[in-house]
Amino acid sequence: MRSVTILGATGSVGRATLDLIERAPEGAFSVVALTANSNVQDLAQAARRVNAQFCAVADAGQGAALADALSGTSIRHGAGPDAVLDAAQLPADWVMAAIVGAAGLPPTLAAVRRGAFVALANKEALVCAGPLFMEAARKSGATLLPVDSEHNAIFQSFDEDHRGGIRRIILTASGGPFRNASKERMAAATPAQAVAHPTWSMGAKISVDSATMFNKGLEIIEACHLFDLPDDRVDVLVHPESIVHGLVEYADGGLLAQLGEPDMRTPIGHALAWPARMETPVKRLDLAQLSDLSFHALDDDRFPGPSIARAAFRAGGCAPAVLNAANEIAVDAFLNGKIGFLDIAGVVSDALEQAQTEGFGARAPNDFDAVYAADRQGRRFASDTVQDRLQSSKRA
Ligand code: NAD
Ligand code: MG
Repeated sequence: MRSVTILGATGSVGRATLDLIERAPEGAFSVVALTANSNVQDLAQAARRVNAQFCAVADAGQGAALADALSGTSIRHGAGPDAVLDAAQLPADWVMAAIVGAAGLPPTLAAVRRGAFVALANKEALVCAGPLFMEAARKSGATLLPVDSEHNAIFQSFDEDHRGGIRRIILTASGGPFRNASKERMAAATPAQAVAHPTWSMGAKISVDSATMFNKGLEIIEACHLFDLPDDRVDVLVHPESIVHGLVEYADGGLLAQLGEPDMRTPIGHALAWPARMETPVKRLDLAQLSDLSFHALDDDRFPGPSIARAAFRAGGCAPAVLNAANEIAVDAFLNGKIGFLDIAGVVSDALEQAQTEGFGARAPNDFDAVYAADRQGRRFASDTVQDRLQSSKRA
């Protein structure tokens, strides 16, 4: 029996993980802890269904509501960010890191530091703190299992024992809802249009990231850290069907890839059972029915996110943490109607520029406190830019 904890159990990836655990044969998994940000009803319901030992809600104001929702059970519970950390620290063999954003870094790191098998969906943690995070995993002996579909595909295709034979890796991108949209249409895009992803069903933040393609930018950085590659060996191809999730090109000209229907339960199931395999209810890929698999180069002009992210990765230091923080603020501002869709990239670039001007971005963080400081600074820079844009749009 494998004991598991799910950080971010009420989200898209968290719910898909619960779905697999609940379908698995009796006795395959036992649930140690579940966490959520504020949705105590869904959290408590899930905890009752899987008979979790402990539940944590990050919003300290929801503690009483969680206690209420769990009344009559023996499930222990806590509220506030420290309770989420406690959940990560409980001795589960396997932890799904599916909190969205840099908020997921401290609990994910806690699971890494105790040497767990960590299924990593939370790419932002790796973007902000890549080198320190990977070093923490090496020190503790934690096993990182990539869950992001592209990275999971590459993990399965990557011959770690013969790295010398690997030329490059390729992340595929669906292109999102605005793959063929004009700049005019993108400028007028509403939050509802931006989160309506053509192939994947995901949380709001990553859906907007897919629409801007900053998601692919974050994933380039994620891949560089996970597979220890320079960014010029990490390529991106637009592949609207989302069937081929990632590829590894070898010196002999061969490519290895992983294919499947766009359903996160395949990579989550791969990580849940790793190194074995498990049944999932995912629709089987019917290759005979596939009329077309297409691949295109990225359009940098309409989608500057990946190249902005590459530049931040190359700049190093605190630039990736600033990039991630600024993107989180910009996405939130867009979802709240404060800025337009095309302003997201502008807010991120401005924040990175400001960090560079102040000599802030260049200093490499030598501990996690420096990463958290860079994250806060990036949020401040981006919030200021959002305010400026709001003021000038009101004047106009
Ligand atoms: P989501 O918004 O659906 O869920 C996020 C989860 O995190 C929820 O359980 C929420 O309660 C929790 N949460 C949010 N803010 C929190 C905070 N401050 N403290 C503690 N908990 C908090 O997001 P999602 O789509 O499931 O994505 C989760 C992560 O997985 C993201 O990093 C995303 O990039 C990555 N990912 C998601 C998908 C996907 O298909 N959804 C695919 C690849 C990678
Ligand atoms: Mg992905």
